[in-house]
Amino acid sequence: MTVLLAANWKMNLTAAEAQHLADAYRQLADEYQAHNVSFIVCPPALYGAALQQASEGSALNWGGQASHPAEFGAHTGDISAKMLQSGGASFVIAGHSERRQNHGESDEQVAAQIQAAHNAGLTVILCVGEGLADRKAGQAENIVTTQLSAALHNITKWESVIIAYEPIWAIGTGEVASPEDIQAMHAKMAEHLTSQCGAAFVPPLLYGGSVNAGNAAEILALPDVNGALIGGASLKIDEMRAIAAHAKAIQSR
Ligand code: PEP
Repeated sequence: MTVLLAANWKMNLTAAEAQHLADAYRQLADEYQAHNVSFIVCPPALYGAALQQASEGSALNWGGQASHPAEFGAHTGDISAKMLQSGGASFVIAGHSERRQNHGESDEQVAAQIQAAHNAGLTVILCVGEGLADRKAGQAENIVTTQLSAALHNITKWESVIIAYEPIWAIGTGEVASPEDIQAMHAKMAEHLTSQCGAAFVPPLLYGGSVNAGNAAEILALPDVNGALIGGASLKIDEMRAIAAHAKAIQSR
């Protein structure tokens, strides 16, 4: 099975830096295609054209970091799934915890975003994850399965869903969930999604939260982990090259 490495560039890079990094990702994606390691870059919306240029005729894929549920309209500062698709994107992130926190996006809004993204023909990377207080209270699995149920309750295009488990306390903090906790949550999500999909198909399950070249080998080797969503380390091509090498090594075992 393919290892998916999704890069979330967040609100970083100048236009020139983004162009340069996009070109480096193109090389990496083409080099690793034969090893079943694939790359999805989610740049700031402004840099979509640079990613589109870099991904043309390449194995590189790109997507948005968020999208509004409407196709067009009076929504200052937003971008729609339809617009992303028309600019060449194939993917979009939904429900990232920074959007849930900074923009107050609810599970209902995330569900509407996913519907609109599917209508536009995009594959969604749905982020779920618990806060530290929830984990300490033993509520992590409950929070995550509730988020999955709420965001995916109307889904029919299961083949266009990817899940990223991102414990909020591990994002951008240098704190990583333990391999045991990651595997336990991924196994729980797989079980939950199997019953929610009503079929044997389970969407790919990514882990996200301070993944880097130093911890990727252990995380990517976990049985229910199919890849990673990477923030900070995704801005450094050498880190991504090292993570890709670990993913390749796991594939050839
Ligand atoms: C993210 O924001 O999706 C993420 C995982 O960030 P970081 O890798 O920096 O923790």
